[in-house]
Amino acid sequence: MLTRFAPAPTGFLHLGHVVNALHVWDYARQAGGRVLLRLEDHDRQRCRPEFELAILEDLAWLGFQADGPSVRQSDREEVYRAALATLVEQGLVYGCACTRAELQQVPPGPDGERRYPGTCRSRGLGLADGIGWRVRMEPGEELFNDRLLGSQTQDPDAQCGDLLIRDRLGNWTYQFAVVGDDCAQQITDVIRGVDLLASTGRQIRLARLLGRDTPPRFAHHPLVMKSPTEKLSKSDGATGVRDLRAAGWSAAQVLEHARALVR
Ligand SMILES: [Zn+2]
Repeated sequence: MLTRFAPAPTGFLHLGHVVNALHVWDYARQAGGRVLLRLEDHDRQRCRPEFELAILEDLAWLGFQADGPSVRQSDREEVYRAALATLVEQGLVYGCACTRAELQQVPPGPDGERRYPGTCRSRGLGLADGIGWRVRMEPGEELFNDRLLGSQTQDPDAQCGDLLIRDRLGNWTYQFAVVGDDCAQQITDVIRGVDLLASTGRQIRLARLLGRDTPPRFAHHPLVMKSPTEKLSKSDGATGVRDLRAAGWSAAQVLEHARALVR
């Protein structure tokens, strides 16, 4: 069993991360498995080296140790290029020149997500710089058994339509990079917050298109909420591990506090 802890260095480590880390390490230890650390810095405009450094320091301070070398998405261009080639060979990737404003005109679906309507599907645009790249999502359901939430059914075509894999700025998207990495690293179990549940069907679909017969098993745990309706965010200073540390908390106290939030 191999899982991963995968923070994005777009801010400091906060209690939401610590709760996720407790879920990940607890599960791995109970299953006799291993945890890899992956820095998800695919979004080059938002990620900062100083956040990466701070995250690594705070994890070490809290005592979370990975069971292998950590990886950084920005160092893994060849992984994503190889994954792209697999999709291109199947004729599944096309260029999309739609602007953000055009995409915003699509009315959101019942879950608030805007489905890409397939505008550029038959325009024959190549994979040029300066435009988005998408992979075709044919209609069809993905079924998976979430370890915490039970049986789930999602149809990626109905939810999101053809998935953006690279944006117009040349960033690999979260959806593409995470699946490329989970496949390449042969991750068997993904343990993450329930805010990513809607992404799971499309990630399983993408993993299959990349040739993975057995996608990872998933467990989506509850989030730490600021209030019943408001998710904890990186801007909530009082929940930052750095701030708690500066206020005199010990690592054991931070872990105990986070442990009380694990449900
Ligand atoms: Zn388009």
